[in-house]
Amino acid sequence: MLIIGNGRMITRDAAAPFFADGAVAIDGQLIVKIGTASKLIELYPQADFIDAKGGVIMPAFINTHEHIYSAMARGLSVNGYSPKGFLDILDGMWWNIDRHLTLEQTRQSARATYIECIKNGVTTVFDHHASYGEIEGSLFAIEDAAKEMGVRSCLCYEVSDRDGKEKAVRAVKENEAFIKHTLADGTDMISGMMGLHASFTLSDETLALCAASKPAEVGYHIHVAEGIEDLHHCLKHYGKRIIDRLMDNGILGPKTITAHCIYVNSHEMELLKETDTMVVHNPESNMGNACGCPPTMEIVHRGILTGLGTDGYTHDMIESYKVANILHKHHLCDATAAWGEVPQMLFEGNAKIAARYFKKPLGVLKEGAAADVIVMDYDPYTPFDETNCNGHILFGMTGRNVVTTVCSGRVLMKGRELVGIDEEKVMADIREESAKLWKSING
Ligand SMILES: [Zn+2]
Repeated sequence: MLIIGNGRMITRDAAAPFFADGAVAIDGQLIVKIGTASKLIELYPQADFIDAKGGVIMPAFINTHEHIYSAMARGLSVNGYSPKGFLDILDGMWWNIDRHLTLEQTRQSARATYIECIKNGVTTVFDHHASYGEIEGSLFAIEDAAKEMGVRSCLCYEVSDRDGKEKAVRAVKENEAFIKHTLADGTDMISGMMGLHASFTLSDETLALCAASKPAEVGYHIHVAEGIEDLHHCLKHYGKRIIDRLMDNGILGPKTITAHCIYVNSHEMELLKETDTMVVHNPESNMGNACGCPPTMEIVHRGILTGLGTDGYTHDMIESYKVANILHKHHLCDATAAWGEVPQMLFEGNAKIAARYFKKPLGVLKEGAAADVIVMDYDPYTPFDETNCNGHILFGMTGRNVVTTVCSGRVLMKGRELVGIDEEKVMADIREESAKLWKSING
């Protein structure tokens, strides 16, 4: 047993949202009790104790849209790369990387990403993977890294016709094999979805193959209207808007994640709501690619289940949270916008999205929830409780405040040291493979 205590504790459980001197007791993979530190120590005198040292104890973060394959792009300069717009960025940078990724480089990209997740207190990741260099086994290679690092993951391979029909079919089969594998897994630590790149690189024929190959228990994870080009392509080739096309192909539904949704209109939002489809907002990525600002506030107001992701841009959910907060204020010319919606997306939306793929409650500290807990070394100099903690997180914290990360009862990081992982050795392995990848890209 393990007790984490001696800190201000935010639980995200309405029944007991805040403890000034809180503690959480963990047995195996579950939280068995929350309360004051003295009470829990009295109840479980034999338990190991992690001292939060007056910091903040809270549920670990969930990231609902991530890209492991982009890990080795950091600092990379591609020869001859001079993008004129979003499609050039995709083709010249991201698809270029994924076309060169070997299985080993995929595995090392996953290790790199998971280490950053742990350091930023993220213990559940919904990843969207592509490695057209080596397709078969890539999701299994990521799963190996997820198990090694101890991060809960929902994985998919992004099916696309961009590299030809034959590779698209192989990508569908990778999803199919991995989904079947995860459905037979009882750990509640790994899950799978049918990944789709985006409407403009997917033919109706390929979508039909995906539908025929997808077990009914899971949904799709797809980029929707990230660039205006995706919408124009859909109107030109199919005579309809993207969400209508997805509806007609049976892709929408409560198990499906649509990332971005920048160019969606009122009618499309109605369809998302009617089908209970999930939306994930990725503010930094949208700004960085100059793709536009999605109508996320309206999407949230319409009651569509909306989460917050990073799209590989960062692994720090608080960074994404800060940017979402200012993006929508700026875009709507309304300083009162986004105060409630963005915390709702990060702290409630992401937990509800995770609940559609994992059994144990996540994103909450309560009896029976998954033991996913973080400690932040944050010492507020103004009053702090459940009524204003989101303001403290927004203006006072970053992911680098995380000192301890626990996932499913396993201590992954303690006192900013990874537990059971030789970080120096892992980093050396990652650097070796990233150098090889860069060489294969630039010659
Ligand atoms: Zn993405």
